[in-house]
Amino acid sequence: MTEHQLKEIKTHLVQGLGSMAGQDASCIMAVEGCPDETDFAAQLVQQGINIAMHRRKMARIRELESALKRMSETDYGTCEECGEEIGVARLKANPSARLCVGCQSALEDGLTRCA
Ligand SMILES: [Zn+2]
Repeated sequence: MTEHQLKEIKTHLVQGLGSMAGQDASCIMAVEGCPDETDFAAQLVQQGINIAMHRRKMARIRELESALKRMSETDYGTCEECGEEIGVARLKANPSARLCVGCQSALEDGLTRCA
């Protein structure tokens, strides 16, 4: 991986983080004081969805942040399983990837077989 490619992925990643941080600060709304029971129920459901989305987003942000941290280490972009290069295209699509395509699909195959 060249210095330029690494910089490109980093920019991409920082942009991703920026766009996520920019969304919803008020995704969790207040449901108390809602006079209509149907509305109340609907809002409870919506709130549950919002909380789940929020958690998912936080997990994604943590993932991207740890990828950003790993970028300053020398083994970024190297497959943890086989030691081959993960590939720039894959890292752009998923900057937090730790495995190359081959190892990732082997892992997923294993998981489906176990299930
Ligand atoms: Zn691999």
